[in-house]
Amino acid sequence: MKYINKKLTIERVSVESIAKKYNTPIYCYSYSKLKENILNFKKNFKSFSPLICFAIKSNTNVNLIREIKKFGLGADVVSKGELMIAIKAGINPKKIVFSGVGKTTDEIRYAIDKKILLINAESKSEVLEIDRIAKLKKKKVFIGIRINPNTDAKTLSQISTGKKENKFGVNSKTLLELVSYCKNSKNIKLKCLSVHIGSQILNHRPYEKMLNVLDKTLNKLNYKFEFIDLGGGMGISYDNKAEKLNYKRYNFAIKKFLKKNSSKIIFEPGRSIIGNTGVLISKIVYIKKDSQKSFVILDAAMNDLMRPALYGAIHKISPSIKRIKKSKKTYEFVGPICESTDKFSTLKNFQELKEKEVVAMSDVGAYGMSLSSNYNLRPKASEILIKGSKIKVIRKRQKYNDLM
Ligand SMILES: *Cc1c(COP(=O)(O)O)cnc(C)c1O
Repeated sequence: MKYINKKLTIERVSVESIAKKYNTPIYCYSYSKLKENILNFKKNFKSFSPLICFAIKSNTNVNLIREIKKFGLGADVVSKGELMIAIKAGINPKKIVFSGVGKTTDEIRYAIDKKILLINAESKSEVLEIDRIAKLKKKKVFIGIRINPNTDAKTLSQISTGKKENKFGVNSKTLLELVSYCKNSKNIKLKCLSVHIGSQILNHRPYEKMLNVLDKTLNKLNYKFEFIDLGGGMGISYDNKAEKLNYKRYNFAIKKFLKKNSSKIIFEPGRSIIGNTGVLISKIVYIKKDSQKSFVILDAAMNDLMRPALYGAIHKISPSIKRIKKSKKTYEFVGPICESTDKFSTLKNFQELKEKEVVAMSDVGAYGMSLSSNYNLRPKASEILIKGSKIKVIRKRQKYNDLM
């Protein structure tokens, strides 16, 4: 997204023209950015050619998943619905891994029927349940076990998953127990050790620590895993100042790890693949002036983009037409929903804005639309994909009738 002749432009389409033609709020994705992200991700780890399983929960649009699939990626799913959409998008079940702490009997049955690559179990009870179902179905099921490495990902506490107080994975004592349980089971084969320490990780050190824990665990276990699944979590820059994840160092640490433990590596990236491909375009409904600041009331709200309300995330806001004149006031960008947390950000020295003008929020491709809801009975936004000057509607705006 950049300004061309003062007009904010995505690939070759102006934000202004999108708002006019498709109405707002609207999620808008760039195909060339998506392609660039996938190719870069592959390049970063090409020496050991990992299986890259896109974390569907970050963006569940079937058309985007189809595009991602064309680059050979698999999927990481965390529910039956996500497994269904991954299959619908054409992803080979042999490239699908199923994570999550609470897979139900129905979900496990479905995953077994679809012959996916791995069900990554997160507790002893779940392993027993998979074993029971596999036995009833007279099938041999491939599983992974997720370990909780008790590693601080140094990210927001709400999106940290690898510390011992988090609900995810099993500790090394349980892992030991489960490895010997699986050895004796006729119906499950333990193929994978998995881990995922959190999201929006910008420093390679937590990953190094995680690999050290895995290495120590493997030394103690003396069990050969076909796969080591390192999860996702690679962070992106939401503002230009933030530090960037050093992929070279992460890659180096993995290569070192692989010298001792030769397994096929699986990654489950979500945000790093799709995050910076999307913007949310919104129109200013009203500007409410106050002595201290002005409220810019947008037609997009927390139901469309939950991240600011959910974890204080900040997304850059850009006007669709660039002007020189700066406002002396502070602008607080809010939505129309009846919650004080329905607020995107507070900005100083922003250019002067007028009602009915259009703005775009950046980097909303991951956990944007997928976290949206119908709160306040607002229909969900539409989504479009831009390729050069071509525009494809990849999800229609929800109709009021669907909500009644
Ligand atoms: C959410 C999640 C991911 C993806 O995380 P990102 O930060 O989007 O890369 C991967 N694996 C598991 C198990 C997850 O829960």
